[in-house]
Amino acid sequence: MNGFVMTVLGPVDPAGLGAVDAHEHLFLHSAALQGDQFGDVDAMAREVESVQASGIDTIVELTPVGLGRSVTGLAAVSRQTGVHVVAATGYHRDAHYPAGHWVYREPASVLEEVLVADLTSGIDGRDWQGPQPSPSSHRAGIIKLGASYQRASAAERLRLSAGAAAARRTGAPVAVHCEIGTMGPELLDLLADDGVPANRVLLAHLDRNPDPGLHAELAARGAYLLYDTVGRIKYRPDSVLLELIGRMVDGGYGDKVLLGTDVGRRSQLRAYGGGPGMAVLGETFVPRLRALAGDDATAAILRTNPWTALTWSASE
Ligand SMILES: [Zn+2]
Repeated sequence: MNGFVMTVLGPVDPAGLGAVDAHEHLFLHSAALQGDQFGDVDAMAREVESVQASGIDTIVELTPVGLGRSVTGLAAVSRQTGVHVVAATGYHRDAHYPAGHWVYREPASVLEEVLVADLTSGIDGRDWQGPQPSPSSHRAGIIKLGASYQRASAAERLRLSAGAAAARRTGAPVAVHCEIGTMGPELLDLLADDGVPANRVLLAHLDRNPDPGLHAELAARGAYLLYDTVGRIKYRPDSVLLELIGRMVDGGYGDKVLLGTDVGRRSQLRAYGGGPGMAVLGETFVPRLRALAGDDATAAILRTNPWTALTWSASE
């Protein structure tokens, strides 16, 4: 099959995705988020219903291996709401894995096979917490990787290489966590050295460092700029993000911008009594973006850009 996007309920034609929120979490447990984890199917279905009501048709769920992924939960939420969910496999930065975790112990070949299994057979029903894999019938659609603030540790580099190998073998796209918007150029270099070109890479959290010159350079290399802290006012007002998008569109990089909210904490979800909630993108930000950048640029950012970015390429 040519030109598909893999969702938890199977491959879909890219244009069938509709409007896309390109970075969320529906199930998440991490050592770095003590007391702020979440993963209740009914609560997340309510949150996703509000996202759907705001005009979003697809959610990219970027929870990687070992951080509370629930493949049956993702499939249930998708079936219950009718919203497409693209699930991730991959590995996060060191801060999310406690000392002694198997991700530090296993060789690159094992790290790679775990990802390929999630992408080609089906995500492990136990999220690789053993004792042996039990592949589900739901495949991952994207590889999530990560580095630390201003650096990539040796362990992170090993996991980045394993992720790149899995991307080459399967054709799946790659999303990389750039801590506080750092390491974009270096991560593109590392992935390119491992055979993954920049146009297969989504750089997450770049809006934490809203530097238009830097972003233009990254987009010129072909990378997608994932602005995924919409509505997170403690970082900066949304007006800064709107201005940044305006600069990218004016500079000819409107085809490289993707949006999300990444409300990755229980306290940020309305279903748990928190805020701003996952629907802040469609409810609040998209109308402001449309007023600023117009219908065509907004449609590119929510629709055609993610359709292209999420489509699997030919594998090796
Ligand atoms: Zn995230």
